[in-house]
Amino acid sequence: NTITEADLIGKHEVLPMYIPRQKFAHKGEMGHSLIIGGSYGKIGAVNLASRAALAAGAGLVSAYVPKCGYVPMQTAFPEAMVITDNNKQIITDIDFDIIPNVIAIGIGLGTKNKTVNALSEFLKANKAPLVIDADAINIIAKNKTLLELLPYQSVLTPHPKELERLIGKWENDFDKINKTKAFSKKYGFVIVIKGANSITVFEDKLYVNTTGNPGLATAGSGDVLTGIITGLIAQGYGAIVATIFGVYLHGKSADLAIEKYGYQSLIASHVVEYLGAAYMDLF
Ligand code: AMP
Ligand code: MG
Repeated sequence: NTITEADLIGKHEVLPMYIPRQKFAHKGEMGHSLIIGGSYGKIGAVNLASRAALAAGAGLVSAYVPKCGYVPMQTAFPEAMVITDNNKQIITDIDFDIIPNVIAIGIGLGTKNKTVNALSEFLKANKAPLVIDADAINIIAKNKTLLELLPYQSVLTPHPKELERLIGKWENDFDKINKTKAFSKKYGFVIVIKGANSITVFEDKLYVNTTGNPGLATAGSGDVLTGIITGLIAQGYGAIVATIFGVYLHGKSADLAIEKYGYQSLIASHVVEYLGAAYMDLF
């Protein structure tokens, strides 16, 4: 029985993972996250992930978006730096001259041919640790040769449909977990099986999260998770710890936020808003 081999992740388990911020910390040492994504009508996803990365504690965040994303990003989130693609509506050529500590790619990205090409060229050249979500997962699932280009311990955060595209259909939960383990082993990926009680999978190890609530079944909540994990890796957390801790913080933040907003009215922005409270709840 596979599930009994899993570690349950609560406050007691994540507390030792926590890295305190030093008194003389400088933003340049707290890590630079780059969020690549967005397309016309889906710039908000990048906004949410960028806010989450900074609220998770990254020192700097840059967003790489199509040109149409420039004004909304700079206006709605002044703390972010913004780099634009040459194309107005979609990402067609990923080109930047910063050196981020970690890159998240895929949210709101779309799957147009030019974007698929841009993603594969990017992956061929990339050296940074990656968090792969949403349409980047969809693109990679369709073009399996791209899987070989992802660095060891890349973090993949699929929701159920995206997971199915990656590993194929499963018969039941045990089969789903076993297929995910096998996939993680084959490529060395850290994979989050998202849902109620999200499971972080690395090779044969399973970490079952205990925070979170149905309020998270809302637009953009996955984008916030991607941002949190990215912001943690930027600060120096290893990929596995960043994923386990990020999933925990995301759920805890939602648990604290529903005390004010309720399940029905929780929106993804509230999860970012309560991230600080989730950190403070550790102590
Ligand atoms: P996405 O579908 O990419 O927006 O991701 C949704 C996020 O919300 C994931 O982190 C899920 O684990 C979380 N989530 C969705 N539904 C629930 C639920 N019923 N209970 C707890 N967490 C959930
Ligand atoms: Mg998503």
